[in-house]
Amino acid sequence: MAESWASSPASRAVMRANRGRDTRPEKALRSALHAHGLRYRVNMRPIKDVRRTADVVFTRLKVAVFMDGCYWHGCPEHYRPAHGRTATFWQEKIAANKVRDADTDRRLSEAGWTVVRVWEHEDTAVAAAHVVGLLAGKRGDPSPGQDDGTPRPTGQPTPVPPIPQ
Ligand SMILES: [Zn+2]
Repeated sequence: MAESWASSPASRAVMRANRGRDTRPEKALRSALHAHGLRYRVNMRPIKDVRRTADVVFTRLKVAVFMDGCYWHGCPEHYRPAHGRTATFWQEKIAANKVRDADTDRRLSEAGWTVVRVWEHEDTAVAAAHVVGLLAGKRGDPSPGQDDGTPRPTGQPTPVPPIPQ
């Protein structure tokens, strides 16, 4: 693993952003999804013969979640192009990663998958809530509090409040 980027100002910003976490971002996201009662596969290829591994995969609903590292995937908030002798090398490397990410998204969506990309700096709870909402939509769950037309278990009509005089 290359560690050389660790001395750049951008990478120090990423490290500061990550300070205080006791788990890796992927693990934190998985725990949050698990807390929502979801079942999923981890680190698997959504499409067997396409060599792209998603971090969290919901096979039945065809949702693939990728946790992208801020530096390697060129996060707009934390990635700053490298300077100096090796600048071109790193810039090309990250540009290639971004092209690959876009290609992954395209291949998966063509195969009927929904791709969710989460930056490693993003709030885990917010990202998990987004995934939960997406899955609910795919399952066709009615939104909480919304009348879906099915009879109420009690069979009682909804009480109408008296009109104030
Ligand atoms: Zn970031």
